Amino acid sequence: MFRLSQNPSFANLLPSFDGDLYFDNSPEHTAQRILYATDASVYQEMPIAVALPKTVSDIKQLLRFAQQHGLGLIPRAAGTSLAGQVVGSGIVVDISKYFGKILDISADEQWVRVQPGVIRDDLNASLKPHGLLFGPETSTASRAMIGGMIGNNSCGLHSIIWGTTRNHLLEVKAVLSDGAEVTFGPLTRDQFEAKCRGETVVSPLEQRLYVQFRDWLSTPTVQQHITDGYPKPTVTRRNTGYALDALVPFFSTDTSSLAARPENKPEPTFNFAHLIAGSEGTLCFITEAKLNLLPLPPKESALVCAHFNTIRQSLEANLVALAHGCSASELVDDYILQLTKTNIEQTKNRTFVEGDPKAILMVEFFGDTSDEVAKKAADFVSALGQKELGYAYPTLFDTDTLKPWALRKAGLSIMYNIPGDDKPANVIEDTAVDVHDLPDYIDELDRMAWEQHGLKLEYSAHAGAGEIHVLPLINLKSSEGRATFRALLMDTAQLVKKYGGSLSGEHGDGRLRGECIAFMLGPENFQLCKDVKDLWDPHNTFNPGKIVNTPPMNESLRSEADRVIPQPKTVFDFSKDGGLLELAEKCSGSGDCRKTEISGGTMCPSYMATRRERDTTRGRANILRHFYSSIEKPSNHDYEAVKDVLDLCLSCKACKAECPSSVDMTRMKAEFTQQQYRETGVPLRARLVGNFTKLMSLASVAPWTYNAIYDNPALRRAANRAVGFHPDRTMPELAMVTLRKWFATRSKKAVHSGNSSGINPGPQLLVFCDEFTNYNDVQVGQKAIQLLERLGYSVTIPEHVESGRTYLSKGLVDKAKAIAIRNVTLLKDLVTDDMPLIGLEPSAILTFRDEYPVLVPDNLKSDAERIAKNVFLFEEWLARETDAGRIDRNLFTTTAQVVKVHGHCHQKALSSMIPVKKVLSLPHNYTVQLIPSGCCGMAGSFGYEAEHYDLSMQIGELVLFPAVRQAETAIISAAGTSCRHQIKDGTGRKAQHPAEILFDALL
Ligand SMILES: Cc1cc2nc3c(=O)[nH]c(=O)nc-3n(C[C@H](O)[C@H](O)[C@H](O)COP(=O)(O)OP(=O)(O)OC[C@H]3O[C@@H](n4cnc5c(N)ncnc54)[C@H](O)[C@@H]3O)c2cc1C
Ligand code: SF4
Ligand code: SF4
Repeated sequence: MFRLSQNPSFANLLPSFDGDLYFDNSPEHTAQRILYATDASVYQEMPIAVALPKTVSDIKQLLRFAQQHGLGLIPRAAGTSLAGQVVGSGIVVDISKYFGKILDISADEQWVRVQPGVIRDDLNASLKPHGLLFGPETSTASRAMIGGMIGNNSCGLHSIIWGTTRNHLLEVKAVLSDGAEVTFGPLTRDQFEAKCRGETVVSPLEQRLYVQFRDWLSTPTVQQHITDGYPKPTVTRRNTGYALDALVPFFSTDTSSLAARPENKPEPTFNFAHLIAGSEGTLCFITEAKLNLLPLPPKESALVCAHFNTIRQSLEANLVALAHGCSASELVDDYILQLTKTNIEQTKNRTFVEGDPKAILMVEFFGDTSDEVAKKAADFVSALGQKELGYAYPTLFDTDTLKPWALRKAGLSIMYNIPGDDKPANVIEDTAVDVHDLPDYIDELDRMAWEQHGLKLEYSAHAGAGEIHVLPLINLKSSEGRATFRALLMDTAQLVKKYGGSLSGEHGDGRLRGECIAFMLGPENFQLCKDVKDLWDPHNTFNPGKIVNTPPMNESLRSEADRVIPQPKTVFDFSKDGGLLELAEKCSGSGDCRKTEISGGTMCPSYMATRRERDTTRGRANILRHFYSSIEKPSNHDYEAVKDVLDLCLSCKACKAECPSSVDMTRMKAEFTQQQYRETGVPLRARLVGNFTKLMSLASVAPWTYNAIYDNPALRRAANRAVGFHPDRTMPELAMVTLRKWFATRSKKAVHSGNSSGINPGPQLLVFCDEFTNYNDVQVGQKAIQLLERLGYSVTIPEHVESGRTYLSKGLVDKAKAIAIRNVTLLKDLVTDDMPLIGLEPSAILTFRDEYPVLVPDNLKSDAERIAKNVFLFEEWLARETDAGRIDRNLFTTTAQVVKVHGHCHQKALSSMIPVKKVLSLPHNYTVQLIPSGCCGMAGSFGYEAEHYDLSMQIGELVLFPAVRQAETAIISAAGTSCRHQIKDGTGRKAQHPAEILFDALL
């Protein structure tokens, strides 16, 4: 299944190609091509090759090669396009890795020059110190790149004040189809005519472009067709076809009807960059862009989250919002709000929601002072009241607005978290009309979808700009669903045309909407679009089959129609997600997993360090989807191809929480690895790591011998090498006495001294003696237990076995299952609502919460689920007790101290850092600050492994190590044993468990 056809002559490119090229049918190359077969759309087509160029010369070579062999060249940035823009059979050219430089910033003149692989949010982070920003803001701004934003003429949340990418595109440097690298910028009439005369051009094609456009666009009938066929001037989002309407004013004597585009100045200049914006990589290959910058917005903001009982009411309120000068007006409907109730990340963001509204309109006001924004918000709310629109108007200020905005931005992708084959289909998600037409248009659209197609639609996003993202649930795995998919688009096109709107407002045409352009713009305008393509790209090399000459919109979809795929047998129970394949299929391609250390978050640490698509959760989900949807029996070659892509997954679980579709790669990787072991056997290192507890138990008979080996650098290096660990990695010390032994000895002493219930007669608690605390970090367990006792609790360590984490981390899921069964059986009668089980090591205790319920057989499921509800991280439990007023803060020191906290990945994914902050703040004068670190890079045994060591340290260096080094006088807190070890190896600093810090703070 992983042996794709190949073109042998690609090898000829290699000697002079600086970047990376994947074209043959080795597991690595084949996997790469599979990863680039999709974007965030419903399409899939296998590219013949994938290239990551390093230089402009690489791009030029690829162009020549593609032209010689009649192949397409598909420019790709973050690959978050929704209309199949970067899906095709040619060479996908990914500029996201090597074209990410900010080249020049002019704060005085307010512009920046960038390469096309610069991420929008990262760019703005660099511009912030200059008091500037690049305005256009997609919901995907944390990963969308300038090249892609230009390609799609993107905009978003604040487009009513900040416009579209085109509005801020000053210049584009691009490789043309004749191989020349040309700069397109604003031209006065004289400069334009000089270009037509060939005086300042760098290639004959450049001259031809100017001459031909002058001929076309100065023809009155052509101008008239454009005026008549393109959307109404008041439709500000208009991405259908090539933006010829943006160029006409330069040639037109009457510009009144074309005034919609803000670049239409009274004395227009001519700028081909404005045509390239929105041309979806079909005309040229962008190598640089010069962007206009805006001053940062006023520092105060207010966000009114107006609640409504109908969508129509919210769209009428939208007009009130615009009349009140809002900076954004965005819709979220009840469907999305319902989904946020079960999404780990979004439950934290929905605290502002009151009741069960049908729609919430988020209306933002900017201002210089808090009084000013509060007044604007109050005036707006009062106007809504007078018109009897809405029933609740919670108003948030400053950083409190971040949560509703995060919820709104997650809207589109969160819908993919719905199990089953009916999935949200991007097909009519991008229509735009005049804001005044919006209430009627949406009413009519809703009726049409229900009456003619039996579809319920979901609504969200840019109400203020006349564009609502509309999503139906359609089963594209069935022929019937595919027919509906097509018919719905065609019917919607009719309706949008009736309202003089645009079928695409911001997402572009791609291969999805190309078929409708002739109808939307008229045959003459469409023919002109085709002529434009022929002129710029006579060999049809640049991104063929997008905008013009597109294939039928319901071909090359991700899955074949009406095919029954057998479910793989799994050890984990994947039924909640509909199955293992379905979990992989939940990946919508949204690209949230392409976060950077600048944009923040934890998902996905390996991508943050390598910036390769294959190291994203999306890449891994795509390869697994391909693997499990194949009907052939996999060969070793296939297993190797998948293993290779999964290799750098740290099993950190960040994707489970931060991916809007909750694509749980940790679980899928473990399951896949177990299946591979069944075919190929278990490697020695995996066995050793899995059996950590057994090995530690053996070594603890003579801990001094073990420690002597690992304290001696030469012996340690040799021992590390022998098992496949990196020689530079230190090993955790083995304690002289295990925690269990220490605890048992103390209890015995207490009984002897006459205290029959143990050390303390207070409320009872169970503590889970995990394998890491038991053998290595005994002092953490000792201090935690003594702290709990000082706080008045009576601690018991119940009978149980290890957690199974080490087996899970190495994909030995069968073994972990046996452990889960054993622990649930041992603890089911002990752990109750009144008798919680508390754990110190997040990765160990959270197996009860996350893995055991989906590992144990049906007869133990309800017990496992009940236990899962009653296990707590030490910090979670202590925070609850603190909230209940049962912890006396006066027991702690009043000395001032700063504590810097690094959170364990599993803790962040399955719990929260709020309790950690709360409990570390128990000492009155402790100042607790969270380090904005993602994963530490160690992730269990990952960072020990020879081939992963460098990456592990690289991940640590992204944020965590520099933050620890800077915090010279602070206490460093880290609940995870691996995290503490990594901090020690990376910085030489000793980090402490919160329990240790609190124990040491006792008076
Ligand atoms: C969940 C979700 C929400 C979204 N929300 C918004 C939104 O609010 N607003 C919005 O406008 N869009 C939105 N989008 C669509 C998409 O994110 C944007 O269009 C984004 O700007 C694309 O950027 P990218 O880096 O992913 O580009 P890609 O998808 O990689 O490419 C986009 C286009 O640009 C072309 N291109 C890329 N690089 C070059 C180059 N060097 N030379 C020539 N052509 C090039 C490609 O060929 C392609 O046609 C959303 C998408 C998703 C999945
Ligand atoms: S894995 Fe999740 S975050 Fe990444 S692209 Fe897929 S859905 Fe988006
Ligand atoms: S578990 Fe962590 S490393 Fe693996 S895909 Fe998810 S976020 Fe990335």
